[in-house]
Amino acid sequence: MANVVVVGAQWGDEGKGKIVDWLSERADVIARFQGGHNAGHTLVIGGTVYKLNALPSGVVRPDKLSVIGNGVVLDPWHLVEEIASIRAQGVEIGPETLMIAENTPLILPIHGELDRAREAVASPDAKIGTTGRGIGPAYEDKVGRRSVRVADLADDATLEARIDRALLHHDALRRGLGLDPVDRATLLARLREVAPEILQYAAPVWKVLNEKRKAGRRILFEGAQGALLDIDFGTYPFVTSSNVIAGQAATGVGVGPGAIDFVLGIVKAYTTRVGEGPFPTELNDDDGQRLGERGHEFGTVTGRKRRCGWFDAVLVRQTCATSGVNGIALTKLDVLDGFETLRICTGYDLDGKRLDHLPTAADEQARCVPLYEEMPGWNESTEGARRWADLPANAIKYVRRVEELIDCPVALLSTSPERDDTILVTDPFAD
Ligand code: GDP
Repeated sequence: MANVVVVGAQWGDEGKGKIVDWLSERADVIARFQGGHNAGHTLVIGGTVYKLNALPSGVVRPDKLSVIGNGVVLDPWHLVEEIASIRAQGVEIGPETLMIAENTPLILPIHGELDRAREAVASPDAKIGTTGRGIGPAYEDKVGRRSVRVADLADDATLEARIDRALLHHDALRRGLGLDPVDRATLLARLREVAPEILQYAAPVWKVLNEKRKAGRRILFEGAQGALLDIDFGTYPFVTSSNVIAGQAATGVGVGPGAIDFVLGIVKAYTTRVGEGPFPTELNDDDGQRLGERGHEFGTVTGRKRRCGWFDAVLVRQTCATSGVNGIALTKLDVLDGFETLRICTGYDLDGKRLDHLPTAADEQARCVPLYEEMPGWNESTEGARRWADLPANAIKYVRRVEELIDCPVALLSTSPERDDTILVTDPFAD
């Protein structure tokens, strides 16, 4: 398989970082295709810890091309800082190793201000729980055809015209929210200052990637967040502002859908969610507390405590379908060590009827009661297991049952944060 898409198959934080790192060693090109710098990946390579938000995971490896595709929204000042901090760790980053699509929309300071002002006035149950980094408002401006895009930084007259178009809209909104009008001169000055830093990486990414494909190069499409946060198929409105599902990999960089050979869904052996929104299998008891503590379930970007619950096979079956997942990487199996009994949600009861999917209507989602199947747990440690033979029988039974219920095979099984503590069943890049 030449090209692999990695998508989170739950609400994010499934452990994509480790798996993407593992795969990026074998890819030639690593491309981000959606999201912004709200993604938080921690990579540990040769004992060095790298923290990445906007940069693709390939950037810390020499000889790889890292690509930021047009499906991403980019905060240029944050990117410059991130590049500087990775460089300070001894990594070389230049136009040969990093390319940014010219048609990538920018996140401006006014987007973060709008994000935070709106969350501040929203009633408690209407808050989305955004990271406040302006990603949502930047996507709104893209669809509203008033974005400043990377290519606009190259021409001052265009840049001014783009800013004026954006400010017409933003100043009206800001008035309603009690914010001062935008300081146009300062915003323009800041953009002019950052422009050369960004433009050195600007490229027609669609063209470069199509050429790479023809030359037989392996592309890894690196997804952020998770499919249940997808703007169309997630738990709307408690979702992110972009498409997260695998189809976005094609539109987010400019290759055809046929360019995707294997979709790897990253799935945690239980469920977590950050922020607001429906979560049928959420546990507010000792078991939930234990999952959170054993799994270190605190956000890498926000530090927020993640909500925890049992594995929900209904949701993962659904995301495997909407992303066309060919195989999953099941992560954090070791966190389940020591539970006497495990529960897996196999369906929902909605007003006395059994459902095998999450309904779309918010009121119905709220009334869904999870139906559980119980499985015996295991006392032995699975941490660090690298072979099936290292796993207790009940752990294998749990994994097999997950495969059956989500109707998708396990390609990789992760048993610790260490990259080599992984059981390989199917190599996504293998022909
Ligand atoms: P991402 O956003 O999907 O990359 O997920 P995060 O990086 O936020 O969460 C993954 C966290 O779990 C990181 O701290 C990883 O080191 C850790 N992790 C990944 N896989 C495993 C695993 O199999 N077992 C355990 N215990 N931790 C893991």
